[in-house]
Amino acid sequence: MDFEHLLSPVRYLLDTCPAMSASALRTLRMYEAWWEHDGQAMSYAVDRAGTPHIRMFDRFGQRSDEILYISDYWRMLKEGYKAGIIWRVFEENSLIPFFLLDYVTCFYDIGVSCPYTVSLSTAVPLEKYGDATLHERYLTPLLRRDESVWQGATWMTEARGGSDLGANVDTLAQKGDDGRWYLTGDKYFCSNAGAEVAVVAARVGETAGVRGLALFLVPRYRDNGQLNYHLRRLKDKIATRSVPTGEIELHASEAYLLGKAEHGIYLIMEVLNLSRVSNAIGSTALAQRAFAEALHFAQKRIVFGQPLLEQPLMRRQFDDKLADINRAFALAWEAAEMLNGVYRQTPPYSEQFHVCRLMIHLAKYWTAEVAVQTAKWAMEVNGAMGTLAEFPVERWLREAMIADIWEGPPHRQILDGMEVMERKGAHHRLFEMLETYTEPDLLQDMAARIDRWLYAPQEIREADAQKMFEALALFTGDALLAKQRAVALEKTLEGRHKG
Ligand SMILES: Cc1cc2nc3c(=O)[nH]c(=O)nc-3n(C[C@H](O)[C@H](O)[C@H](O)COP(=O)(O)OP(=O)(O)OC[C@H]3O[C@@H](n4cnc5c(N)ncnc54)[C@H](O)[C@@H]3O)c2cc1C
Repeated sequence: MDFEHLLSPVRYLLDTCPAMSASALRTLRMYEAWWEHDGQAMSYAVDRAGTPHIRMFDRFGQRSDEILYISDYWRMLKEGYKAGIIWRVFEENSLIPFFLLDYVTCFYDIGVSCPYTVSLSTAVPLEKYGDATLHERYLTPLLRRDESVWQGATWMTEARGGSDLGANVDTLAQKGDDGRWYLTGDKYFCSNAGAEVAVVAARVGETAGVRGLALFLVPRYRDNGQLNYHLRRLKDKIATRSVPTGEIELHASEAYLLGKAEHGIYLIMEVLNLSRVSNAIGSTALAQRAFAEALHFAQKRIVFGQPLLEQPLMRRQFDDKLADINRAFALAWEAAEMLNGVYRQTPPYSEQFHVCRLMIHLAKYWTAEVAVQTAKWAMEVNGAMGTLAEFPVERWLREAMIADIWEGPPHRQILDGMEVMERKGAHHRLFEMLETYTEPDLLQDMAARIDRWLYAPQEIREADAQKMFEALALFTGDALLAKQRAVALEKTLEGRHKG
């Protein structure tokens, strides 16, 4: 098998997304070239220099909560904004430009993808649920095409834990005498801390659980120009150092309710849908990067008289890992395309929206697993050299472990995926979608296994969930690969016909 196309993210995208427009391809090639020539060195410096610092007070003793970065940070970050990772979504009315640029970003630095993702996850609900005044004040600057672009952030998690938001979000939203909303509480994992505007989950009224949560827009500065929230500290993380993750204190912070308060949990899910697909795209790109790093070493390292890559055991591993990456990409890309079809919907959602949710849980779960396993294997291929901090391989394992956890660790994806099958029957629609691309016997067998599992008592169903979900992810990935091949063949035949 030829592996050379794995060395470039754009080459890989070209092979797997043959319908890409000429102008999209031009943008991606320029962006990739920038990463090759300039961005990689900056990314390496940011990772090695570690977490940025906070200057908490200005020289007059006033609280300023300013984040100090190493000098190349902004150049690296702004390159993606300028390339259009956010504004193209609104110009083209499609998420696809985001996911394509995100793939290239994550091949080089998955940490940088986080500010882009949370900025998009702020801009989309703001555009959908905000009024004209909010658009003018906050959306317009988020869509700027120059160095002055604003950034967004998505803050839900509190100190008692991020999985069970219904039980653990204590931040309170209250309406003041002036009719405005004010939020008070602490957020414990806040990526892109320092963003100009964030979407924040808070509790409204007496309703317990997730039904009592609403989504608010919170700007960094109050109307009077003072800080609207405080940044307590930045986390010292093992990876994704190119995004500052901090702890935020909200003290009667000025806020704007997005959508209806009673729809809050749905809006939070919409935000998570976007970031989970981005995570799936990013995990696959990271796996490709780790593969490329392993390939580079295995082609040059001589063991027992020949290149490592030529040894049968190693060669087989390369073939298997490529198959894993291809399957992961098929899942991630299907999730991206499905989300693109439904992200404009508002509650109550269509049936297609729920199938999309199932696809997102499958993709987030399985691609993160592939990223971690591929990064671990890439380190093994590099042997002792792979463990050295001076070479890039060890970094991809650190980064992969974060991709696995943020936006909800595997358990969350599995249990939420199970819920959408139980409550919405999303798997039935999924099987209809995949019917054309799989053997009838395999499909029947998979459907019967899922049915048996869903009828089991709750405790057994949960305990067995990982086994089932993994089987479903592999089955779905294989069917989607067959679909990819069928689409590519159709395109070739169409081309010949036109020619
Ligand atoms: C670098 C980084 C940046 C982050 N940035 C943000 C951000 O910007 N905004 C934000 O809101 N959050 C952010 N997070 C938080 C992230 O979303 C949470 O880590 C995640 O949702 C899981 O929550 P938790 O870590 O509190 O785990 P917990 O909820 O404490 O769960 C612990 C473990 O138990 C598992 N678990 C939970 N329930 C079950 C169950 N029923 N059965 C089996 N296992 C279960 C979980 O999957 C997890 O593995 C960030 C996290 C990281 C690492």
